[in-house]
Amino acid sequence: MVSVAASPAVQPEPSTAPRRVTILGATGSIGTSTLSVIADRPEAFAVEAVTAFGNAERLARVAKEARARVAVIADRSAYDALASALAGSGIEAAAGAAAVEEAASRPVDVVVAGIVGSAGLAPTMAAIRAGSKVALANKECLVCAGDLFMGEARKGGVKILPLDSEHNAVFQALSGHSIDEVDRIILTGSGGPFRDWTKEAMAAANPDQALKHPTWSMGPKISIDSATLMNKGLEVIEAHHLFGVPEEQLDVVVHPQSIIHGMVAYKDGSVIAQMSAPDMRMPIAHCLSWPQRSPIGGPRLDLTRIGRFTFERPDLDRFPALRIARAALGAGSWATNILNAANEVAVAAYLAGNIGFLEIARLVEETIERAAAQGLSHAPGSIKDALALDREGRRIATSLLTRRETA
Ligand code: NAD
Ligand code: MG
Repeated sequence: MVSVAASPAVQPEPSTAPRRVTILGATGSIGTSTLSVIADRPEAFAVEAVTAFGNAERLARVAKEARARVAVIADRSAYDALASALAGSGIEAAAGAAAVEEAASRPVDVVVAGIVGSAGLAPTMAAIRAGSKVALANKECLVCAGDLFMGEARKGGVKILPLDSEHNAVFQALSGHSIDEVDRIILTGSGGPFRDWTKEAMAAANPDQALKHPTWSMGPKISIDSATLMNKGLEVIEAHHLFGVPEEQLDVVVHPQSIIHGMVAYKDGSVIAQMSAPDMRMPIAHCLSWPQRSPIGGPRLDLTRIGRFTFERPDLDRFPALRIARAALGAGSWATNILNAANEVAVAAYLAGNIGFLEIARLVEETIERAAAQGLSHAPGSIKDALALDREGRRIATSLLTRRETA
C-alpha cells in the first residue's frame, strides 16, 4: 500500500517559477478557499484550468479573477452562457464531462480535487494518470475506489497530498517517520451541530439546523455528513487508504473546539498533534506549497483565548453512521462504494425534505444489506466498475426511498 508519510530526506531547492495549479470544483467551498490562497500570493501561482458543474456566471468570474487559461463547465447546457461571459477575456471555454477530464489531464504541478461526491472520480483519476500531484479534498474518490486510486498513484509515482484537514494534520504529524513506527492515528471531529442533542430532537431536525456547523463553513453535502458523523466515517476510510493502516488503528475523538485536527500516536508513547485555527485555507496552502511552507494571511491561533480543549468519545448510538462506515470498511471496497452512493442519495433526499435526519443512516445501512443480498459484493476492478457499482447503489437506495414514500 502507498504511504504518503515519508517526506524526501533532501528537500529540493525552492523553485521561484510560479506553481501551475488546476482547480476542480472551483465554484465550491474548497474551490473558493483555494482561489483565496492563490489570490494572496499571485506571484507564486499560475492557474491553468478551473471547472464547475453548472454555474457559468460564477465560473467565468473566478476564471477571470484567477487569470485561468481555460474554464470548463460540466453541464453542457451552460456552455453558451460560459462562452459569452468569457468573450474577449482570452480564456478558453469548454463544456461536458469529457472536457472536465481533459482539463484535469493538463500537466500542472498540483490539481486540487474539490468536486463533491462520486462525480469527482473520473476527473481526479485523470489528474493522477497525467502525473500531476493531487491535493485531495474529494474524499469520496477514496471511499468509492481507494485501492484503485492509491494503486494508480503508486504505479505512476504520483503524490497524493491530503487536503482534508484531519488527514493533512496526520500527514504533517507523520513527517520524517515511517508508518511502521505508528501505533494509532487519531482523527478529531467537532461532533457537528447535534453533538449534545437527544435522539428525539435529532429525529425532528430540519436541514437549516443540520447545515449550521459550529466551527467550519462548508458545502451542503459535507455539512450534512458532519451532522450525521458520516463525514468521520468517510474520513476513517480515507485515512485507511492514504496512510495504509487498518481500521483498528484509526481512532475518532470528538473535539468541539476544532483546533487539533489530527494526531499520530507513535509506538514509543509520544503523540504528535497538529493545530491551527479551523480554516481550510491552511491545509490548502500546505498542499499548494508542499514540501515548503509559505506565508498565508488569515486567523492565527491564540491558545489563551481558546482556554480549554475538551475531548469525548463519539456516541455511536446517536450517530450510527460512523459505526456503519467502519463496518463497510471491514466488509470491503464494494461496501464502501455502496455506502457512499446510498449516502449521497440519502443526503439529497434529506435536503429536499423527503426523509427525516435519522433516516439517512438507516437508508445507508439498508442499501448495503440489499446490495449484499443482490450479490454485488465484489471489489470494483476499474473506475468504470466503480462507477457502475455506484449507479447500482443509487438505484437500490432510490427504490428503498420510493417504497418508504408510498408505504
Ligand atoms: P461544494 O458543494 O461547495 O462544491 C462542489 C464543487 O464541485 C462545485 O464547484 C460544483 O460546481 C462542483 N461539482 C458538483 N457536481 C459536479 C459534477 N457532476 N461535475 C463537475 N463538477 C461538479 O463542496 P465542498 O464543500 O467544496 O466540498 C468538495 C469536496 O471537498 C467534498 O468531497 C468534501 O467532502 C471535501 N471537503 C470539503 C471541505 C470544506 O471545508 N468544504 C473540507 C474537507 C473536505
Ligand atoms: Mg475533514
